[in-house]
Amino acid sequence: MSNYSIPFNKPSLTGKETQYIQEAVASGKISGDGMFTKKCHQFFEERYGFQKCLLTTSCTDALEMAAILINIQPGDEVIMPSYTFVSTANAFALRGARLVFCDSRADHPGMDESKIESLITPKTKAIVPVHYAGVACDMDVIMKLADKYQLFVVEDAAQAIDSYYTFPDGSRKPLGGIGHLAAFSFHETKNVIAGEGGMLVINEERFNERAEIIREKGTNRSKFFRGEVDKYGWVDIGSSFLPSEIIAAFLYAQLEHIGEIQQKRSSIWNRYQQLLQQPGAPYQLPQLPAYATNNAHMFYIRCSSLQERSALINHLRKEGILSVFHYQSLHRSDYYLQSNPLSELPMSDYYTDHLLRLPFYNSLQEADLEKITSLILSFYQQYTA
Ligand SMILES: *Cc1c(COP(=O)(O)O)cnc(C)c1O
Repeated sequence: MSNYSIPFNKPSLTGKETQYIQEAVASGKISGDGMFTKKCHQFFEERYGFQKCLLTTSCTDALEMAAILINIQPGDEVIMPSYTFVSTANAFALRGARLVFCDSRADHPGMDESKIESLITPKTKAIVPVHYAGVACDMDVIMKLADKYQLFVVEDAAQAIDSYYTFPDGSRKPLGGIGHLAAFSFHETKNVIAGEGGMLVINEERFNERAEIIREKGTNRSKFFRGEVDKYGWVDIGSSFLPSEIIAAFLYAQLEHIGEIQQKRSSIWNRYQQLLQQPGAPYQLPQLPAYATNNAHMFYIRCSSLQERSALINHLRKEGILSVFHYQSLHRSDYYLQSNPLSELPMSDYYTDHLLRLPFYNSLQEADLEKITSLILSFYQQYTA
């Protein structure tokens, strides 16, 4: 990465991260669920009205907790997009679930809600919408299906901090606050970071007690610390899902500045859009459904072919700029194909081959943006000529 004058990602600090880490160390308690963890929980519960939040060591962990909480059993089916990060799938595969992949939308890489119902069988247990690029899936459609077929909804909100969905009646909810459960990521490539870190959001009280237990190695230690029981023991399955205070301290420093972070990212996103919006351009810019807000998690373009995208990546690389593609659709992965036939998901394949993510970090400068976009424009002048 250091070979690039404009890398794809750079972690940005807001100022107090190391000071809060020192405070955590000085407090004498650096294991989990101390003062900074509580401050983070409170922040999310107050700002977004989430019923209960639990910091985890990653979004992957939060998804694994969700799969345990909704009692996924071998053979249960879970519907999710194929165009997603492996953790969305792994969390449920670890519990023996059969993964049922849904294709992406034509206007957006998120899952095509109109295709979900035809994938539901008597074995379906959950739907896992992924809010790709922080852009909401059509949660009204998904929640109604969940209601009709008695399914759980676990939002993969890894990229979706501070983003919203507007229901057809005009009411608005933050992403992560709509499904039964939701998982956020604070990995250093996300908007608000802690190096590695995540959070489980519980939107129904009935999961609260068991979630605490699963997160504390299957013990009722949280109750013990609150003085509700006089000893703690092994009461359920679980693992070590809680992060140390050092991570929470870093995260809290970021959260205190979430407004500035979002503003900064939003201005970078808008500038990309302005500079790349050219009449007759051969690439396509992101499209946002009317019910979704933009949290400026990423900026991508859609190239017209795999070959064109590879040439553009090289063109930018020669000038010291790192642009990246992702995800290799999961329905074509070696692991999935070991025990499943190849399904046809043309839009998922399309995004795998055509989508290109441009450098995006809070300290990206106007000059960087001008350099990146003018190189893209000059590439297309030559490429189409
Ligand atoms: C980043 C990401 C994850 C994983 O987050 P970690 O905190 O690294 O575990 C899961 N799903 C999606 C959609 C992501 O973008």
